[in-house]
Amino acid sequence: MSDVVAIDLGGTNIRAARVDKNGKILVREKISTHAKEGMAAVVANIAGLVQKVRGPDTVGVGVGTPGVPNHKTGEMLLPAVNIPGSGGFQLTKELTRLTNLPVSADNDGNLAALGESWLGAGKGEPVVIIFTLGTGVGGGLVVDGEVYHGTHNLGTEFGHLSIDYKGRKCGCGNLGCIERYASASAVGRDAREALSAPNAGKSLMLELAGGSIEKVEARTVWDAAGKGDALAIKLADDCCDYLSCAVGSLINSLNPSCVIIGGGMSLAGEPLRSRLQKRIDEGRAFGPIAKDARIKIAILGDDAGILGAARMALNVAEHSVQKS
Ligand SMILES: [Zn+2]
Repeated sequence: MSDVVAIDLGGTNIRAARVDKNGKILVREKISTHAKEGMAAVVANIAGLVQKVRGPDTVGVGVGTPGVPNHKTGEMLLPAVNIPGSGGFQLTKELTRLTNLPVSADNDGNLAALGESWLGAGKGEPVVIIFTLGTGVGGGLVVDGEVYHGTHNLGTEFGHLSIDYKGRKCGCGNLGCIERYASASAVGRDAREALSAPNAGKSLMLELAGGSIEKVEARTVWDAAGKGDALAIKLADDCCDYLSCAVGSLINSLNPSCVIIGGGMSLAGEPLRSRLQKRIDEGRAFGPIAKDARIKIAILGDDAGILGAARMALNVAEHSVQKS
């Protein structure tokens, strides 16, 4: 059976896997990115990794990268932050030259969405939206098994949906972006601010963080909320109130069959999922549309991006077979 090599280019590590048509991971490898050496050196290291994990039946390579590649030409439209020389780099052309295999590339968020829709929480779903809640808020949209790319692959920046026209200033220049309210960073910040207030009462969050307000983060909030801490419950409720505005607006726009919550904060699991679903069902999305849209928690973890990259490479290989 033919297979593909999937690459997940991260700021710290480059992960590679050989993956078969059914999504079974056959071989894995990981090396340090050494991002400071620049994009040309990073891509040469990726080529070395491809040679190491490829097999006799490998038909292509799929690369997930930070930044935004043009998904048709493989040129980096927006640079991968922290990798010098990545802006404008001919990613797929150079890697094809070095490996002699067809190479495709896409943004890592898009590929996480594709991975979850292929084999994860969105399996079998026709229209899948993903919100990833981490340091920031990312997103992706997969329709009938294909990533939605917009005009120049610059869409699905769900973190910059505004939920308040007079709200908090965002790094993108807008006001009230959901990223400033419902990312893991934002929830941690809100908790530390609440605990630092002059009238702050006792909270289990402080105990869980070893008595240090600085160590309180989003995970502390969800842990304490699960144990019944009143302030943590309020913060968890607030997070889902904010999130429901953005998610509800997207549901109304796109009529998805499911919305998957991924990223580090998705480890909060069912308490997060059920809070969000309740708000959607209670009116944050228009009734008939809300009925279609089930909120789910991502299940593939770190493998979502690798499996999405594999699916993309398999799609390219299948299309070229159909053409010939
Ligand atoms: Zn923004």
